[in-house]
Amino acid sequence: MADPQVLVVGAGPTGMTAAIELKRAGMDVRIIDKADHLARYSQALVVQARTLEQFQRYGLAAKAIDRGRKLREARFFSEGKEIVHFTLDRTESRYPYALLIPQSETEKLLNEFMESLGVKTERGVELVALGTDAEVRANLRHPGGATEEIAPRWLIGCDGAHSTVREKTGTAFEGGGVGLSFFLGDCEVEGPDVVHDELSIHVHQGDLVFMGRLSERVVRVIVALREQQTSEENRDLTIEDFQRAVDRIGVRVKITAAEWMTPFRVSDRQAKHYRIGSVFLAGDASHIHSPVGGQGMNTGIQDAANLAWKLAAVAHGANERLLDSYEEERGEVGKALLRFTERGLQLATVSNPILERVRDALADHLDSATGAAHSDRLHLGDGNSIPRIFNRCRLRGRRASARGRSPSRSSSPKRRKSIDTPRRVD
Ligand SMILES: Cc1cc2nc3c(=O)[nH]c(=O)nc-3n(C[C@H](O)[C@H](O)[C@H](O)COP(=O)(O)OP(=O)(O)OC[C@H]3O[C@@H](n4cnc5c(N)ncnc54)[C@H](O)[C@@H]3O)c2cc1C
Repeated sequence: MADPQVLVVGAGPTGMTAAIELKRAGMDVRIIDKADHLARYSQALVVQARTLEQFQRYGLAAKAIDRGRKLREARFFSEGKEIVHFTLDRTESRYPYALLIPQSETEKLLNEFMESLGVKTERGVELVALGTDAEVRANLRHPGGATEEIAPRWLIGCDGAHSTVREKTGTAFEGGGVGLSFFLGDCEVEGPDVVHDELSIHVHQGDLVFMGRLSERVVRVIVALREQQTSEENRDLTIEDFQRAVDRIGVRVKITAAEWMTPFRVSDRQAKHYRIGSVFLAGDASHIHSPVGGQGMNTGIQDAANLAWKLAAVAHGANERLLDSYEEERGEVGKALLRFTERGLQLATVSNPILERVRDALADHLDSATGAAHSDRLHLGDGNSIPRIFNRCRLRGRRASARGRSPSRSSSPKRRKSIDTPRRVD
């Protein structure tokens, strides 16, 4: 096959967006992925307003909205009392909400659109070696073991948290783990604390439960515990494990079935460089962080859009220095994002009782303390921005919804469906 102008390594949401934008700009692009299928799990749940605006350019926004659920408010509970109520309806966008939609659906939409443009992911094809001396030389291994060496003008590493591109270019991934154990489940749930159209976060002595509704039937539940997982807890999760964790935090819900459960680890890390000559890093290959704020996938999609038009402009004669602005702009977004997610998670999981009380009393300042600007977005100069997750943060005048602690539960329903549990080891 001829050398393409751009080789995109990895066909997750970031890679597909890069391929879409490049193709729309008239570029010759190949996209490969070592996996032989699209994402099977829901993983990222939140599509932010800015991403919907980007999807509108592809004619995908209405389809995404049809398949998702609009999220307009979020509630934060500490020790069983509601202390903050966020609303998202002031976002300056034609989409004044966040959309809850499983990543597998988002990827399906992007894939359909990319294929309609004539770009198809070469599946089962893995980047195994990369030379960047005089020119980019990429070694690909095809299914069956055949190898191919190609020399694209540019290469974009959209190959996720364990990026081969990042490793082969010797790019440091700076940062570390957050010291919490995370469990994720897409569950059927009942009880007084079940979410409806809102999102809820419950904290108790440094532990946290997050709930957001995926469908009429299924609720995404994420639990973060300060206790480190032991090897015993690293076995496949059961509903009983989940129920124990939720009970410990005092959330009054009963988990009756689960479609998917997985433990995962979280790190806050950022690549030291996003541009290494003619090679670029985007999405999880360049930044990973906790799911606080639902920004990971969105940021990758916006990285790809920022980079692709610049590559197309340079291919059509613009000064190559334009490409430096990718790292300058998206590196700053990544930095702000890590700061925001790191502080948000620290605030939510404070375990010192005095600090907990201070946090709860100062809850009305939560958004400025997490580093979010008081405008709707953190603007970064090129039209890209981090949409603020919560546009209005208001302390409840009285803690009127204080409730008693949850009774302990003994129910331990059987897991309905057993699905393998991929682990994110960052
Ligand atoms: C359990 C879990 C829960 C999550 N929850 C959330 C959430 O609630 N909110 C949120 O915003 N984010 C969440 N995330 C993160 C979100 O899924 C990522 O931010 C998003 O998938 C990043 O997209 P990406 O395209 O950059 O990378 P990925 O989706 O990781 O895609 C990378 C692709 O590259 C391919 N690849 C890797 N190496 C090679 C190679 N050498 N050659 C060819 N192909 C290769 C892989 O097969 C993969 O398809 C979660 C992640 C996990 C694992």
